[in-house]
Amino acid sequence: MVNTHTDADTNGLQAQIWQWLEQVPDPEIPVISVVDLGIVRAVEVQEDQAACKVVITPTYSGCPAMKVIATDIVAVLQQHGVAEVQIETRLSPAWSTDWMSENGRAQLKNYGIAPPAQQVVDISSISRLHQRAPLVACPRCGSPSTVCISQFGSTSCKSLYQCKDCLEPFDYFKAH
Ligand SMILES: [Zn+2]
Repeated sequence: MVNTHTDADTNGLQAQIWQWLEQVPDPEIPVISVVDLGIVRAVEVQEDQAACKVVITPTYSGCPAMKVIATDIVAVLQQHGVAEVQIETRLSPAWSTDWMSENGRAQLKNYGIAPPAQQVVDISSISRLHQRAPLVACPRCGSPSTVCISQFGSTSCKSLYQCKDCLEPFDYFKAH
């Protein structure tokens, strides 16, 4: 019997697995998938296609959601016939909000959570002493006139802000 598996098959399955993983929601923010959040770092498929390894990096250390995510990933892939799924948790390099996809940021905003500010330092207009507070636009009306009410929002990943224009309080997903 000739081995019909080729690299193309393996790559095809790998791409398929990425698509399936887009169906796995983040347990804390169900509108955003673990792929859009940037948690899934790599997908490796074994040559016989019977097993795969998914590498994930936790968003915040000690986030209990990671156990749920690992279980959900295994369940979704097994539903699609991948018999053996191995989850590898990689802590380094640490997850950064910069890994969140544009799609993910848009979904976050639609959900009413201000997406994390891009960690780009504009030294031309801001002095280094004044860059502690990020510019957070209101996800509802888009006003940049907002104030941080509490460093701790509904979860430790978020701060609570209030818009000075529409007066709505909202969560800001902290950049880090
Ligand atoms: Zn507003």
